[in-house]
Amino acid sequence: MTRGVAILGSTGSIGTQALDVLAHHRDEYRVVALAAGRDSELLARQAAEFDVPREHVRACADAPGALAELASLPEADVVLNAVVGFAGLPVTMAALEAGKRLALANKESLIAAGPVVAKARAAGGGEIIPVDSEHSAVWQCLRAGRASEVSRIVLTASGGPFRGRTRAQLQEVTIADALAHPTWNMGAKITIDSSTLMNKGLEVIEAHELFDVGFDRIDVVVHPQSVVHSMVEFCDGATIAQLSMPDMRLPIALALGAPNRLPIPYGAIDWATLGRLDFEVPDLETFPCLALAYEAGRMGGTAPAILSAANEVAVDAFLGGRLAWTDIAAVVAEVLSAGAGNADEIGDVLEADRRARERAAAVAVTRGAA
Ligand code: MG
Repeated sequence: MTRGVAILGSTGSIGTQALDVLAHHRDEYRVVALAAGRDSELLARQAAEFDVPREHVRACADAPGALAELASLPEADVVLNAVVGFAGLPVTMAALEAGKRLALANKESLIAAGPVVAKARAAGGGEIIPVDSEHSAVWQCLRAGRASEVSRIVLTASGGPFRGRTRAQLQEVTIADALAHPTWNMGAKITIDSSTLMNKGLEVIEAHELFDVGFDRIDVVVHPQSVVHSMVEFCDGATIAQLSMPDMRLPIALALGAPNRLPIPYGAIDWATLGRLDFEVPDLETFPCLALAYEAGRMGGTAPAILSAANEVAVDAFLGGRLAWTDIAAVVAEVLSAGAGNADEIGDVLEADRRARERAAAVAVTRGAA
């Protein structure tokens, strides 16, 4: 029996790497649905290569309904959510409500709608296996002990292209500077988030939602080589880490096969050439987005949704040349300072998202003009 895999967001960085993994496992997995927002030519080639039924291939930039439908197809055992940003929420909800395994690369849906997603997961009986490399690492490390024995989660951060710079030095950074990530090759949005450390902040909230660990017990350490993907410290002082060379196909393959590991090694380490591994504490003054994410996480309710939405708008304005890099954090801080509400229903999250985007757009215009 082959397992059916739906890949939503198939033409992006994660989607294409997932198909690369699946091309080597055609006996165990078949691709049952594909969706992509922009690149319809590549989407058509993928559909032909993996023999996906025509009615399950959608080019749908603005059709959350179509994505949700594909995420709940009876043929799909695993749903890979590789949609970019908040637009991935319908996929997360539909997959969990339908009791699927959700291979989650879209962290924004879990961050923005944590309590609502938790309800859907409990009601539908679905499960989330993280694809994000840090959370895949934590998921692996957690196998080394009981939940009650976990002291803290330590997320590693590469530090991005601006590690070691001061705030003053970062006033004039260009889009190209911010897009030049030292260790990972990823999409534009997440690469900018890495440069501000907002990506790590979002991942702190993601870890809280996935593993039910309080914010006081989630730490971030900067590790520029991106070989240690994250760690778990247990109550006896033992720290378990997961190491591999940066290659997203490893966490993708694990999310497909879990609890089993697929037998193709991605990112295996050559100790003769690895060299040193460094660790340092993050510079919160230069990278205020990380502290803002902890603040939003502790506020709870719709605060993470507001943080994430304001950040998406600010990053978009930066990529469009309308906002300075240093003002990304300023926009998020200002929008978050207006406070948050309860996130009991999906409607609360959608409304918070909408209002945060409106506010962020207005603040970005003011800042951009300054
Ligand atoms: Mg990550």
